[in-house]
Amino acid sequence: MTQSTKNTHLLVYPFSGSGHIIPLLDLTHLLLDRGLTITIVVITANLSLIEPLVSSYPTSLHKLLFPEPEISPAPHPLIGKVISSQKLFQPIVKWFETHPSPPVAIVSDFFLGWTNELANHLGIRRIVFSPSGALGSSIFHALWRDVGEINARNDNGDENFVVSFTEIPNVPELKWWQLSLSHFYKKGDPDMESFRDGMMANMKSWGIIYNTFEEMEGVYIDHIQKQVGHDRVWAIGPLLPDEHGPLVSTGRGGSSAVSPDDLFRWLDRKSDDSVVYICFGSRFTLSEKQMSSLASALELSKVNFILCVKASDSSFIPSGFIDRVGDRGFIVKGWAPQLAILRNRAVGSFVTHCGWNSTLEGVAAGVMMMTWSMGADQYANAKLLVDQLGVGLRVCEGGPESVPDPGKLAQLLDESSSVDRPERVKVKELSQAATKAVKDGTSRRDLDMFTRLLSEL
Ligand code: UDP
Repeated sequence: MTQSTKNTHLLVYPFSGSGHIIPLLDLTHLLLDRGLTITIVVITANLSLIEPLVSSYPTSLHKLLFPEPEISPAPHPLIGKVISSQKLFQPIVKWFETHPSPPVAIVSDFFLGWTNELANHLGIRRIVFSPSGALGSSIFHALWRDVGEINARNDNGDENFVVSFTEIPNVPELKWWQLSLSHFYKKGDPDMESFRDGMMANMKSWGIIYNTFEEMEGVYIDHIQKQVGHDRVWAIGPLLPDEHGPLVSTGRGGSSAVSPDDLFRWLDRKSDDSVVYICFGSRFTLSEKQMSSLASALELSKVNFILCVKASDSSFIPSGFIDRVGDRGFIVKGWAPQLAILRNRAVGSFVTHCGWNSTLEGVAAGVMMMTWSMGADQYANAKLLVDQLGVGLRVCEGGPESVPDPGKLAQLLDESSSVDRPERVKVKELSQAATKAVKDGTSRRDLDMFTRLLSEL
C-alpha cells in the first residue's frame, strides 16, 4: 500500500451479468492490491460472486447491497434492465450523503451511463468501465450517436443493409442483422431515448477504462481518445487474475458443474495443444439444429474436445453421442472453469461465441480462436480476431440461428490442431504481448497512471 492511495475511496458499480461482473471484479482486485478502499454496489443475486473478494479484503472492500430493482417493461429485456437500474440513483445519493468519508470517484459499467449524472450530482468523477473491447465500443458509440439516421437509411428493414463506420480505423462494416439493440430505437420513445442518453453519457465521462491492450487494439484506443478529446482513456487489460488469488480458482464466475479433479486428470492424459475447448459464454445457447451439427462435426473429426453446454441446451445432445466419441470428449453441462481450462497446456483451440471476456481469455492463453459469433459485439470481435489480427478462423457466422455444415466444421476442427498453422503462431505471439503489457508494459503503465490520478482527486 502506498501512502497516497491509502485514503482513496472508490465506488465500483458493475452491471448485473457474468460477462460484466467478472472483469470489473478483476479490476477491483488490482485496485485493492494497490491499497484503495472500495465500496462495491451489489444486488443480492450477485452476492456469491463478490464474497470471495470481500473475505480476502475484509477491511478495505465494502458492500453496498440492494435488492434487484424490479425490471421495467421496455422494448427489449436488456433495455428494461438498464432502465430499472436507475432506481438506485436516490438510494446511492442517500448512502453517499451520510458516509463519513465518501468516495472520490465512481467506476461503473458502460450500461450504467446514468451514473455520469449521479457523479455530477455528488460532485465526484465518473469513470466508465467497458466490458467490450475498444473496437466493439467504438462501433457501439457511433451506432447509438447516429441511430436515428442509420435506421432512416434502412427504413424498409433490409436485413443485409450494410452500415459502414467510416470514421473508425479500418472502416468496419456490419450488416443490419449484426447490429445489436439499435433496431428497437424509435425517436421519442422514452425508454430508447433514455438508453441512448446513457450510451452518450459514457463519452462525456471523466475517464474510460478498457479491458484490452495496445498490441491488440492500439488504433481503436487512439480513436476513442480522439473522440473524447482527452487522454484519460486507459487500456489496462487483459484483466485476468493470477493463478492463485481469491478470484482465480476453478470457481471464477460460478461453481464448476463438473469435478475439477476429473476434468484436469482427463486433460493430463492429452498431449499439448491437442484439445479443442467449445463454449458459448454465460448466456448463449445452441438450438437443436446447431447442437446436432456440432455433435456430428465432433464425431467426424479426430480432435479431443471439451464441450460446455448449458443445462437448457444439453438435452439437444444426440443420444449415444457420448459413447460414440468415448475418451476423446469431455462434456460439461453447466458452468465450466473456463479460464483454468484455457490455460491448460493440453488446450490448443477455442470454439467461441467471441464475447469480449472469452476473446481476451483465449488470446491471453495463446489458443487458436475459432469464431462462432451470435450477437452483441461478437461480430466485431470476430473481425478483429480473424481479419485484423490473424489469430483465428471463422467456423460459423450468419445470425444466431445459423447452422454450420458438419463436414466443413469437422475439417476446420482437425486443421486447427496442426502445430504450424499461422493463426496458432500469431496467437502465441499476441499472448506473449499480453503478458508483457500487464507485467511491465502499456497496461501496467495505464493502470499506474489511473491509480495515481485517483489518489490525487
Ligand atoms: N464463463 C465461465 N464458464 C462458463 C461460461 C462462461 O467461466 O461455463 C466465463 C468466461 O470465462 C468469461 C465470462 O464467463 O469470463 C463470459 O463472458 P463473455 O464476455 O465471454 O461472454 P458473455 O457471457 O458476456 O456473452
